[in-house]
Amino acid sequence: MAEKKSNLYEESLRPLKNAADILNLESDIVEALSSPERALIVSLPVKMDNGRIKVFEGYRVRHNTARGPAKGGIRYHPKVCLDEVKSLAFWMSIKNAVVGIPYGGGKGGITCNPKEMSLGELERLTRGYAAAIARCVGPDQDIPAPDVGTNAQIMGWFLDEYLKISGKYDAGVITSKPLSLGGSRGRNTATGRGVFFATLEAARVFGIPLKGARIAIQGYGNVARPIPVYLHDLGCKIVAVSDSVGGAYNPEGMNPMKLADFKAKTRSVKGFPGSTEMDTADPLTADCDILIPAALENQITEKNADDVKAKLLVEGANGPTTSKADKILYEKGAIVVPDVLANAGGVTVSYFEWVQNRMGYYWSDEEVDEKLKRVMTDAFKDVYQTAKQTQIDTSFAKQPLKVDMRTAAYVTAVRKIVEAMQALGRI
Ligand code: NAD
Repeated sequence: MAEKKSNLYEESLRPLKNAADILNLESDIVEALSSPERALIVSLPVKMDNGRIKVFEGYRVRHNTARGPAKGGIRYHPKVCLDEVKSLAFWMSIKNAVVGIPYGGGKGGITCNPKEMSLGELERLTRGYAAAIARCVGPDQDIPAPDVGTNAQIMGWFLDEYLKISGKYDAGVITSKPLSLGGSRGRNTATGRGVFFATLEAARVFGIPLKGARIAIQGYGNVARPIPVYLHDLGCKIVAVSDSVGGAYNPEGMNPMKLADFKAKTRSVKGFPGSTEMDTADPLTADCDILIPAALENQITEKNADDVKAKLLVEGANGPTTSKADKILYEKGAIVVPDVLANAGGVTVSYFEWVQNRMGYYWSDEEVDEKLKRVMTDAFKDVYQTAKQTQIDTSFAKQPLKVDMRTAAYVTAVRKIVEAMQALGRI
């Protein structure tokens, strides 16, 4: 019997249901697409620096592998739970299909607070996790990468543990590795760079001039950090930025290089000279033309969606907008470039890394950037065409699109996944 789905996971499946209605999919096919292929829970006893053992819980979920091996990051965060990892794995199946890279979806995580752990504790935790899931991962099975709370060093420890267990040098088991271990050029900035390419395309097709455009960004981590620099170079004004400590607002715009230096020195953007202080969520409703939520999920909800001023939202984070908020934004005419398209630059360059590992031949920064731009631009065009052409009644909304870009992205992706599942004879 099918497992009862929790609210958190059920909520993440909503756009799938919308796409399934448009594609006239049978309910049993929707059920198959809604059910992860595998969900692994592991207990990880770690010797802490004080000599005591602390047991952490870790997860690895494989959502759907009809289009290729599972691919998706590993999150270290106190709020990680199985449901969250299932949602993130499902989004990876959709994202990989949207950009047309030959992977299914997977995700992993450990419930922990990496900010409160020493490097030694983090290393022991990571090695324990790698050993516990080693049999389920591999370059042809399931390929992890970083996500919130993890980085290239953690990928290096994971790889080392995996290599000891597998007995052969398969660098393609994990991506976003340091360059010295076969990482790809351009991976550090790839997600932000992809968000930038998606913003360029959206601004072009929806007629939003970038020169002088006011930008607000929530989050200032791996994804968000490079974005202000790219947009500032095109004449945009960075008016609001926040991180988990607080935010900075300046309607005249902030210098992104100075902002980066300030963050590096003080560990927050709060208090940036010349700015007024904001709360962490304030960039979401700031006076701006383009909003980039790039922190965590469920930030734009039915409570604040009506106050969003941006005409264009480009989702750097995974799941920052709830389905109720999506509806409010669509009806008031705001365009949302969804996470599964906008932040796919990271997994795309991870795919490039895996390809380079398999070839044993490595590309330059320019080659990676040019290939990434092509993937992002083509995927955007596909989704945009679907959004313009899909036939449903939208007479109630002030929109240039027949369906919102999220539904269009899901229609594009689900079509590809269902085709692969049918060709394999799985459905
Ligand atoms: P990160 O941990 O490097 O950065 C997260 C940032 O958000 C930090 O600056 C943190 O201070 C800030 N933040 C946290 N809570 C906040 C709050 N309540 N208000 C404002 N800021 C807050 O993580 P990341 O890798 O940049 O990931 C961010 C999001 O992007 C996540 O949803 C992740 O799943 C998604 N994502 C990441 C990648 C990637 O390549 N790293 C790829 C695709 C999607």
